[in-house]
Amino acid sequence: MDRYGKLLTSTIISLLLLNSGCGANKNEEVFNQKTCEYETKITKSTPEVLSTTYDKCVMDSPKAEAKQELEEFKGNLQHIFFHPLIIYPKMAFDGDYLSQGYDDWFVTVSEFKKILDNLYAKNFILVDIRDTYDVFEIDGKRIIKMKKLMVPKGKKPLIISIDDMNYYQYMIDNGNAHKLIIDADGAIKTYSTNEKKEKIISDDNDIVPILDKFVEQNPDFSLNGAKGIIALTGYEGVLGYRTNDVKSDNLNSERTEAERLIEKLKENGWSFASHGYGHLDTNEISFKRLEKDTLRWKNEVEPLIGPTPVYIYPFGSTVNYNDTKFKFLMDNGFDVFCGVGPETITEYKKDCILTDRRPIDGYSFHNNSKNLVDLFDCDQILDKFRPKSN
Ligand SMILES: [Zn+2]
Repeated sequence: MDRYGKLLTSTIISLLLLNSGCGANKNEEVFNQKTCEYETKITKSTPEVLSTTYDKCVMDSPKAEAKQELEEFKGNLQHIFFHPLIIYPKMAFDGDYLSQGYDDWFVTVSEFKKILDNLYAKNFILVDIRDTYDVFEIDGKRIIKMKKLMVPKGKKPLIISIDDMNYYQYMIDNGNAHKLIIDADGAIKTYSTNEKKEKIISDDNDIVPILDKFVEQNPDFSLNGAKGIIALTGYEGVLGYRTNDVKSDNLNSERTEAERLIEKLKENGWSFASHGYGHLDTNEISFKRLEKDTLRWKNEVEPLIGPTPVYIYPFGSTVNYNDTKFKFLMDNGFDVFCGVGPETITEYKKDCILTDRRPIDGYSFHNNSKNLVDLFDCDQILDKFRPKSN
């Protein structure tokens, strides 16, 4: 349990995987980057390997395919995370009971853009978490191994995730977007309302459209078109669509719209993770409650996003590898377990990966700025609209 478990209140903040049935006998499936297809080879050697790279070639731009010298990355793979961005700081920092939470756990649009510029200048390159490890199956047992990560010379791989991109009602009321939408030209944008209640559609107001645009302009910021991981709960639907409200007349249209959007996000290099259904504290709750919560997520959210091997602990509240809850989550298809910590420390167990992600938020800006210098300079990015109380 880290500071997230203690300080976040539930009111405030609240992959395609890899085929889990992988490893056909004596077949080796290899993903061919050029043709975007799996090649199945009969091999005599074991173990069988299922490549964790998939249908991402569609977004490889000609610029990104330019021949670059690759080298194996041997350093510490960084993983940072955000929440949806504050578009309207005056709504977030209006002095109500959520203002402190917004100051602590959120980043504004202007801060995010400066962070991106810093990361790019420091030679980071986005990678897909699914490209960082291999899954084997030997005698019916899943085996996970770190993969040799090849990146353009001089680049440092980086994984980004966004937690709670559900656009909960409290977010809509406090200056975040209402939802993501696809515009007539097929671009993903945000729909929001500003302080004057004017409706705003923009490609410049949250992480997804901003990063999509940034990578389009700077293809060398992304390896094979990778973007980030979107971690979703289910209790208020997903991505601003109320797919949870089974009694609503709009349920079918909300689900259809969400599915269309999810398809587009995947095409653009985004992937998804489970963040639990009800944003419950995985470590604190009983086994029965975790079971119920996980199955509800699998029934309501997984059909929309597809299976994912990534589990992002709500509140960063982890459980031990030997815990029966952990085994239960693994049995439900999760291979990668993400907590929160000041450093990205990744542990490769024989059958799963445990990793900590670094929080990028106001709390870190105010209390941990020295620890962020490898990523960006806090003094340079801090939004003038943030309360000065800290
Ligand atoms: Zn969360």
